[in-house]
Amino acid sequence: MIFELLTEFILITINAFCIVLVWWVIRGNTTNKLKLWFTLMTIFILMWANFSFFGSISKDLSLALLFYRLNWFAVALFLPSFYYFFIVYFLEKKGWAALIGVFVVLGSVFLAYSSLLTDWIISDVVHKDWGVEVIFGVLSDTFNFFSALVAFLVVVYSIQTYRILSKDMKIKLQYFLSGVFVFILANLIFNVGFQVFFNSVQYQIFGDFSAIFLLVFTAYSIVRYELFDIRVITTEALTFIIWTVLVVRLWISDTLEQQIIDSAILLLTIIFGIMLIRSISREVKQREELEDLAKKLKFMDKQKDEFVSMAAHELRAPMTAIKGYLSMVLEGDAGEIPQKARGYVADVSSITDRLTRLVNNMLNVSRIEEGRLVYQVEIISLSRVAQMVYSEFEIEAGRKGLQIELEIPGDLKDRVKVDVDKIQEVMSNFVSNAVKYTDEGKVIMRLKESGVNKVRFEVEDTGPGISKEEQKRLFQKFYRAESNVGKTIGTGLGLYICKLLIEKFSGTLGLISDTNKGSLFWFELPVVQRVEGEDLSS
Ligand code: ADP
Repeated sequence: MIFELLTEFILITINAFCIVLVWWVIRGNTTNKLKLWFTLMTIFILMWANFSFFGSISKDLSLALLFYRLNWFAVALFLPSFYYFFIVYFLEKKGWAALIGVFVVLGSVFLAYSSLLTDWIISDVVHKDWGVEVIFGVLSDTFNFFSALVAFLVVVYSIQTYRILSKDMKIKLQYFLSGVFVFILANLIFNVGFQVFFNSVQYQIFGDFSAIFLLVFTAYSIVRYELFDIRVITTEALTFIIWTVLVVRLWISDTLEQQIIDSAILLLTIIFGIMLIRSISREVKQREELEDLAKKLKFMDKQKDEFVSMAAHELRAPMTAIKGYLSMVLEGDAGEIPQKARGYVADVSSITDRLTRLVNNMLNVSRIEEGRLVYQVEIISLSRVAQMVYSEFEIEAGRKGLQIELEIPGDLKDRVKVDVDKIQEVMSNFVSNAVKYTDEGKVIMRLKESGVNKVRFEVEDTGPGISKEEQKRLFQKFYRAESNVGKTIGTGLGLYICKLLIEKFSGTLGLISDTNKGSLFWFELPVVQRVEGEDLSS
């Protein structure tokens, strides 16, 4: 009696729930085709669950047979073809998949009408003490095989297509497949498992009822997925199935001892189940929070980059003007100026150069990262660029009392394929740092051959050097060695940009240094072979 009450209660709940689900999907933001499909599917599932229940409780055997046959009719029509076409439509499968679909429909219709009108699938029904049991006919195995084949196809199509789906579609597909999985599992337990282990088909109805999971997951995959994570729902569904199995087991255990053991297991499973669900929900929630944070950080990082690039852009124009006027003054365009003033102006001019380099670095970093920087790659002589950089820093180094030297072997193969302005920027950054961070001694710029077909540029100084610890982070964005922060102006962008640029031109770079041992920064670029008769002097 209680068993009947329980199934009755579940059935009523399922009926009500199905109506809510249909209402939810219809109100949701999806295509009419999917709405219609879902409504039909729900109707078939309701037929299935209700007929199955009425079949099992009917006193009149011929009525029970009719209910069971209607039940199987609904299952045969709905289960294979609806799921097959859902996945075909969802994954936009064409060609073969559509052709196979015709056979799926034909098979479904054949099996549905065989269930309803012949004894091939359900041959008879008999009374048992718990209700009415089905006796299966000759084609019932064919029916099972057919359903398994279609389920197999659904899974194969999903796996085939999964990789190329968008993230959104992937999540939807995960929902759908989880629904199929939970449903199949419940049926394996209540239909197959109970029959094999307890020799009972009494609980088969729970397998039928589990179709509600199929509906819930599918509805979710159609309408939305943001609210819950798939792992939480699957855990909940599986835990719920385990509880139901245990309740049923408790039900059928006949000795008191068995009942006590089963109750204890049930109690433990309920406690651990709740703990499991809660811990997974918590984890999922934390992950979502982290994802949110990461998104916010990315956004703020972008804003910061935009600000830096905007500020740098605004600073550049006035600095070019300052530089222009200063060189006019130095060249005597404003008339003769005293020697002392000339010295000051020269200082201001080299400081302006440094500032311009800094601002250029700030501007370049976002451009390089976003791939917006335009390169004018051509074959050039690296020695010539080194000479230009040398002259650029000669005065500044002299003013600081530093000796600056440039060493280039006479027969050096120095033709490289780069953007000349950019490579000059890299060299300037190296030399500028050497001059900036070295208080006494000298700075040596060196070009030399290295390995097979490579040319190496080095800048060696007698400055403070850089500890091994700090070297690891030196080429990172915004990194400045502790000892220098506050003493000199800088952004920590120079070396980072050097690295990006050198790598862009298929080169490598690095440094040899240690605390109080000076530094040697280097880069190497592949040499372009000289073509016979070509003139590089232009
Ligand atoms: P910036 O010079 O603007 O700070 P860089 O990226 O050019 O940025 O350099 C990063 C850091 O590397 C500098 O802050 C400095 O601490 C260290 N550094 C670079 N070159 C030298 C050098 N020649 N000697 C000592 N320290 C150096």
